[in-house]
Amino acid sequence: MSITSFSLSATDGKARTGVIRTPRGEIRTPAFMPVGTAATVKAMLPEQVRATGADILLGNTYHLMLRPGAERIAKLGGLHRFMNWDLPILTDSGGFQVMSLASLRKLTEEGVTFASHVDGSRHMLSPERSMEIQKLLGSDIVMAFDECPALPADRARIEHSMHLSMRWAQRSRDAFGDRPGHMLFGIQQGGLEQDLRGQSAEALRAIGFDGYAIGGLAVGEGQEAMFACLDHAPDQLPTDKPRYLMGVGKPDDIVGAVKRGIDMMDCVLPTRSGRTGQAFTRHGVVNIKNARHADDPRPLDASCTCPACTGYSRAYLHHVFRAHEMISGMLLTAHNLHYFQQIMEGMRVAIAAGQFEAWETAFHAGRAEGDIPPL
Ligand SMILES: [Zn+2]
Repeated sequence: MSITSFSLSATDGKARTGVIRTPRGEIRTPAFMPVGTAATVKAMLPEQVRATGADILLGNTYHLMLRPGAERIAKLGGLHRFMNWDLPILTDSGGFQVMSLASLRKLTEEGVTFASHVDGSRHMLSPERSMEIQKLLGSDIVMAFDECPALPADRARIEHSMHLSMRWAQRSRDAFGDRPGHMLFGIQQGGLEQDLRGQSAEALRAIGFDGYAIGGLAVGEGQEAMFACLDHAPDQLPTDKPRYLMGVGKPDDIVGAVKRGIDMMDCVLPTRSGRTGQAFTRHGVVNIKNARHADDPRPLDASCTCPACTGYSRAYLHHVFRAHEMISGMLLTAHNLHYFQQIMEGMRVAIAAGQFEAWETAFHAGRAEGDIPPL
């Protein structure tokens, strides 16, 4: 009997709800994972992240290996202790970020050598090194090392990259070994080409993983193309394992993905937007820097129970943003993460009740209403 497991409790159409069990805690699905890039969810204490309803967060291998270094974190007791978060952590493999952030990259069959964007120092990532780093960090869900081109890319490039990623998936599986209590996820590639996605899914199933991610989306193709891909891609993956859509997304992307059978997602959007004065609400996006809020005593969202909405006016949130006060990013990040988790909770309850379609209709209607009129 494995000490990690995934069980579905209900499905409604293609939407699914269930739970991933790990020794560090349960992850209710569909799950949204806040991003803790540099061993912190920016502007948030770990207990505040937990209070938004997050069961798991994501850490970035690429950033942590460069600064402060995986070996250093391991010596300090692992990533959970280092950042004071004792619930599950998923780490990415570093593959995506090394291709988007590092310079002087050299991609070979072996792996990628590159120069750090922090100080120019030379590093190498391969399936074996990525597994080693994620083990040093102590992450609960480890991602296979892969490579994916930005879209649009021509079919030959996507196909070559997918096959390389599948060879790396096997090497990741071999290097991961047997680690009870930890899960290894494979990553499906193939761009927007359905047959390549199918081949990729087949290769991953033959290797065998604890969960399956859909990679190579949300890289510039747009929502329509992404949804068209998601109309097929999740169906190509095993039904009895979690399906994770990487790097998604806006609230309506998340809802559309869950509708198509996705169980897990992550995105920097709620945290990054929180630091740039953008709030996501049931009634769409609010730009708090807008002058219309300067004298508005009302909360961001009267029905929201987050610290920003229960304790502060729009006028205050506007003021601290304009004054570059740190509490601005703290409050808007807390609100955005709370709202994203409310969406997930709403979907979990709706799927369990067989009411997903009605919930989705209400979700879109609320957002289409737009923000409350100015005073
Ligand atoms: Zn709020």
